[in-house]
Amino acid sequence: QTILAIESSCDDTAAAVVRGVPGAPKAQVSSSIVFGQTELHAAFGGVVPEIAARAHAEKVDLAVAQALDAAQTDLDGIDAIAVTSGPGLIGGVISGVMCAKGLAAATGKPIFGVNHLAGHALTPRLTDGVAYPYLMLLVSGGHCQFLLVEGPTRFRRLGGTIDDAPGEAFDKVARLLGLPQPGGPSVENAAASGDPRRFALPRPLLDRPDCNMSFSGLKTAVLRARDTLIADQGGLYRQDIADLSAGFQDAVADVLAKKSARACEEYLSLAPDTPVLCVAGGVAANQSIRARLEDQSASLGIAFVAPPLALCTDNAAMIGGAALEQMSMRPADGLTLAARPRWPLDDTAPAMLGSGR
Ligand code: ATP
Ligand code: FE
Repeated sequence: QTILAIESSCDDTAAAVVRGVPGAPKAQVSSSIVFGQTELHAAFGGVVPEIAARAHAEKVDLAVAQALDAAQTDLDGIDAIAVTSGPGLIGGVISGVMCAKGLAAATGKPIFGVNHLAGHALTPRLTDGVAYPYLMLLVSGGHCQFLLVEGPTRFRRLGGTIDDAPGEAFDKVARLLGLPQPGGPSVENAAASGDPRRFALPRPLLDRPDCNMSFSGLKTAVLRARDTLIADQGGLYRQDIADLSAGFQDAVADVLAKKSARACEEYLSLAPDTPVLCVAGGVAANQSIRARLEDQSASLGIAFVAPPLALCTDNAAMIGGAALEQMSMRPADGLTLAARPRWPLDDTAPAMLGSGR
């Protein structure tokens, strides 16, 4: 089957062509086009939903055309259309869903609404063909949770953040330190020349025996340390920014790694044949976080899988991959498919127009 996939739930307009056998591990990513919006939002210090929605509406057709071109195919060569139908910024999700419905109506091809988080969480199936059940740390701009992935539509949440997501914290810390958005890559860059031990930053909830995490106190601690430096010396030196970035990144990595060990205990009690810890989402693009998680898994004797960077941050290939996984076990959605701003992973049924969800 050849799937054309569309993703527009945040600030990336993406389209991809993915080829594979429904339900089988691993698929071929024939093309994956991503148009970012960083410059559009740069002046505002964060993603502006109205601007994002407009940009998606303008760019989505072009993304689809380029994805088909790059995969050396056209609409006739496509078997089904997959689209992120939530959760996310609703204006953006609607842009993608409308485009997908237009293509489905014009071609008569089936349409599959895919949960954006399922796309992230199923990425290791697409890239590495990891067997179910696997443990997934989904760590992104808006989410942070440990999931037991039991099947293409079966996700059990073991715990997660009780306040901010780490990606959000990276973005806020970048703003505090005067670094450009998105904060993840710029904080990672600055941290490369920093000393993670100069500032003692908190690691909340590590003493608790569950899989829950908290990152908002960490961000506040960075703010306090910054303000103390500014009061003492009238501003921040380059080394201060590097050290604060390194300290922050180290604290996030520490919490994620130690809580992963906790989640692994729960996962291993289910006696999986080949235990695997996977990571996905934008923050999984961070090299030092990946390295810490890899060390942690190695010390527990568990395999570790982290998708290539371009498949960690938002992309449409993961949506095509998720559709391929799901299409053998559920019917297509049809033109009544609705966009959902909220859509928890344990509620896997896509909404229909008029269903009130
Ligand atoms: P969600 O998937 O939760 O709906 P989203 O789609 O906006 O949110 P992603 O695109 O998966 O999130 O991830 C974006 C986030 O990842 C941003 O907060 C960004 O700062 C962060 N991020 C990207 N690269 C890195 C990196 N190298 N290190 C740390 N964080 C990163
Ligand atoms: Fe995402």
